[in-house]
Amino acid sequence: MKAVVVNKEGTWVELVERDIRKPGYGEALVDVEYCGVCHTDLHVAKGDFGKVPGRVLGHEGIGIVRELGEGVKSLKVGDRVSIAWFFEGCGCCEYCDTGRETLCRTVKNAGYSVDGAMATQCIVTADYAVKVPDGLDPAQASSVTCYAAIKAAKLRPGQWIALYGAGGLGNLAVQYAKKVFNAHVVAVDINDDKLALAKECGADIVINGLKENPVEVIKEKTGGCHSSVVTAVSKVAFNQAINSVRAGGIVVAVGLPSETMDVSIVKTVLDGIEIIGSLVGTRKDLEEAFQFGAEGMVVPVVKKRPIEDAPAIFKEMEDGVITGRMVIDMKM
Ligand code: NAD
Ligand code: ZN
Repeated sequence: MKAVVVNKEGTWVELVERDIRKPGYGEALVDVEYCGVCHTDLHVAKGDFGKVPGRVLGHEGIGIVRELGEGVKSLKVGDRVSIAWFFEGCGCCEYCDTGRETLCRTVKNAGYSVDGAMATQCIVTADYAVKVPDGLDPAQASSVTCYAAIKAAKLRPGQWIALYGAGGLGNLAVQYAKKVFNAHVVAVDINDDKLALAKECGADIVINGLKENPVEVIKEKTGGCHSSVVTAVSKVAFNQAINSVRAGGIVVAVGLPSETMDVSIVKTVLDGIEIIGSLVGTRKDLEEAFQFGAEGMVVPVVKKRPIEDAPAIFKEMEDGVITGRMVIDMKM
């Protein structure tokens, strides 16, 4: 199989040819159709979370089950399934038992702690591979796999939400907030092309953080948002997000810059601000997200590219020039 892996030095990606093992007990072998390239893959490739040389990247995968290992009851050959960041939990700890399985302390993550989906084939743990509903385009489904944060913002219809970062995740966030939660949306980015796309996808207000002060504009036009979600990989954006919410507001941290944010204790206490970390969705969240996609409420903006382009895509991601999501098409 062809695979996009972290290089020997643990600092970047390379395309290699590899063999894949047989699926073991409870596992399935999947022919990958598409795999989205997420900014998290770039963090992993560069060793931001610790070096993982040789690891097959990718956690926004969609593919067709080709072969089952022993003991698999939840899948059959021919099923279309996802390969998501939440690859497997232990199934019996306090988090797995209480609907917070992504926090499992012995979790496995695709494309980071186990080999992922940026390859023509991969192995999944059958019970953790969420099925993709009919009617959802598989290339679009790939980029839905990595999303759940809007739920954490506890949005109610008509409320204002500020979305910092209008990249791959941010663009999906605009659509969820607007079309699923019926909220009013402010999108903030530092790139006008991404803001134009956010506007097209339903953002009510767009702000370029390099040209205007988002906090001032948001205060003036909305009186302060009810919540904000940060997918921007920038400390500046996190700090602005905290200052963009009104009293009682919720700030959801999604992006993973290797920095700290500055939180005013006085503001947090006097304004009753909640700051929440959101780590991808559970299998149930993903099932719901797929369904919204299948119903056409959320339409991920994707561009298909051949696997040979992977190193170039990672460079474009690093340069911040991708609008929507680049998806590797394994058949191209
Ligand atoms: P992306 O590169 O497509 O998007 C990031 C966006 O932030 C870009 O559009 C960029 O222009 C914008 N940006 C940069 N600086 C900014 C600033 N100061 N203000 C406003 N916008 C700014 O990346 P992505 O794939 O959307 O991922 C975003 C982050 O989320 C990454 O750190 C990724 O690892 C993380 N992530 C987290 C989860 C989770 O569940 N918590 C899931 C997937 C990805
Ligand atoms: Zn992702």
